[in-house]
Amino acid sequence: MTSLGEYVMPFHIETLSLISALQTALMALMLWAGTYGDAGRVRQSLRLRSAALLVEAAGWGSLAAHAYLSPAALLLGGNAFNLVAQGMSVVALRMLLGEALRGRLVIAVNVFGWLGVAWFGLVEPNYQARVLWGSLAIGINILLSIEALVGVTVRRSSRARAVLLAVFAMAAALLIWRNLQLWIGDSQLQGITIASNINFFYVMFSGLQPLFAGIGFLLLYNEILQQELRLLARIDPLTGVSNRLAINEATTLMLAHSARYRQPLGVLMLDADHFKSVNDRFGHNGGDKVLRSLVFSIRATLRDSDLIGRVGGEEFVVLSPGADLAGAMLLAERVRSTVEKTPLVIDGQSLALTVSVGVAVAAINDRDGAALLQRADAALYEAKRAGRNRVKAAVAKSKEQALTEPLAVKPLS
Ligand code: GH3
Ligand code: MG
Ligand code: MG
Repeated sequence: MTSLGEYVMPFHIETLSLISALQTALMALMLWAGTYGDAGRVRQSLRLRSAALLVEAAGWGSLAAHAYLSPAALLLGGNAFNLVAQGMSVVALRMLLGEALRGRLVIAVNVFGWLGVAWFGLVEPNYQARVLWGSLAIGINILLSIEALVGVTVRRSSRARAVLLAVFAMAAALLIWRNLQLWIGDSQLQGITIASNINFFYVMFSGLQPLFAGIGFLLLYNEILQQELRLLARIDPLTGVSNRLAINEATTLMLAHSARYRQPLGVLMLDADHFKSVNDRFGHNGGDKVLRSLVFSIRATLRDSDLIGRVGGEEFVVLSPGADLAGAMLLAERVRSTVEKTPLVIDGQSLALTVSVGVAVAAINDRDGAALLQRADAALYEAKRAGRNRVKAAVAKSKEQALTEPLAVKPLS
């Protein structure tokens, strides 16, 4: 009889499918409820995933109502619903993760899957080949999902990712098991609606999958939204560079890194000179444009490992890992002279802007980020007092820094 001996599981395809259909439709509704609000990429992916569940529910519905359908209609319709749902789910997951959607590949895989199923169902009936063909299509969908999940977007420690990987692994195992049963076992099955242990396990577990996969998707969606919020909370909307929160966090991290690798950390605190007069001349909007251009020209002088942030109205911080006092002074002077030499054109008018810069360097084992930024700020104040458009270094905090005199670089007149 079957591989599990004489006992045949209580298989009632209409009941099992009906439960799965309702459960899947409910899951679709729950996901849809979460799509309320503006439609960004992430929300759109949830919408698509919800629609995929609805299509999947229709597939289960057609199986539940198979008595009212012709075998050909069930074969073509049921498999169409299922494969379309699979394809939509793959695209939704890739969209959520910000990966390339691979829409054409997904469509090709599922259309070929469906054509193969139709061929081995109607033209040259062969149940095992039909199941294998459909399974291959679903298997490729699973691989495309796994490929997106192991991509770089998601943190390694993500639990949602682990849940989804487990769901896909289970789905793949179920497919392989079913095909092995059909090819190796002495099964005489000719359809999914026939009572058998293979069909019972297959229908039962694949009916539970929308639930697992739907909840897994929601967990991941939640994680990714949180990541986006975290990121947004650290960006200055006007200039697109780090804000004060991000700079404070980065300072702490870079200090820990400096202590560990015994490297210095240079800090530049910059403030635009006489910026009030810029606003007076160009208005606040014009002033905003000037700030954006200023950030643009400062960034052009930095290395990739340097981080710039806006910590006040027209006040900026540059963190330069590995820069000792001499290096930081050199960088500061480069920034200062670049800004001085780059005339900004606002609304057709040329503007000569200058910046004052305070420089501080963290001593090895210095862990106090706030104090470090404060020293750079004090040096900036000195630069302002000394006449602006110049660079001043902070007085060293400890002997380790081997600096006794405040250093100043005056502009080449
Ligand atoms: P100083 O050389 O002493 O730095 O003179 P300052 O005029 O730049 O004076 P301060 O730095 O104290 O003032 C900054 C001015 O920058 C005040 C405000 O009008 C302007 N400001 C601050 N934030 C913004 C902003 O987001 N956009 C614009 N357009 N202007 C801003
Ligand atoms: Mg200023
Ligand atoms: Mg200021």
